[in-house]
Amino acid sequence: MNASGLKLTCLQTLQASGQLREEGRQMYLDLDPGNVKGLFESVVLNQLASVTDDESARAAVEKLFALQALKRVHDAGEVQGAALMAATWCNSERMLNEPEKAKSLAKWAKTLGEIPKDFQELVEELSPELQFRDGSCCDRAAKKGGVCGHPCCKKAAQEDEVCSKCN
Ligand SMILES: [Zn+2]
Ligand SMILES: [Zn+2]
Repeated sequence: MNASGLKLTCLQTLQASGQLREEGRQMYLDLDPGNVKGLFESVVLNQLASVTDDESARAAVEKLFALQALKRVHDAGEVQGAALMAATWCNSERMLNEPEKAKSLAKWAKTLGEIPKDFQELVEELSPELQFRDGSCCDRAAKKGGVCGHPCCKKAAQEDEVCSKCN
């Protein structure tokens, strides 16, 4: 076994025992910076699972965004679960209070598969465009990556709502 293989085995053992500390994490991330092997992802998931306070939650959420930026996911279900959990933390005023991050995590989760029932309410609240009626003016605009220009829809959007006339 070569040196990096050995390092990997040690880290996998460490991670399995739930004792992956910050230096271990960084080493692991450096071994798979593009999440090609899924190691980056498993470190991030491990870090999210071992969050104990706001500070560690914040650090874990940052790593999750780093994973998102890589645009390569191996276990979509696991990553979606992590994204939804992180969205819950970001959405909580008493925890991270980062509504914009919560929104973007919810959108990402949506791309990773059908949202589990327990989180549907949260995702709808965070990401009103997901509630557009299929084929409505707003839906068509959103699918093209834009926003609907109708005055009624714009007004609703300013209030963080979905235009009820059109959807
Ligand atoms: Zn519209
Ligand atoms: Zn409208």
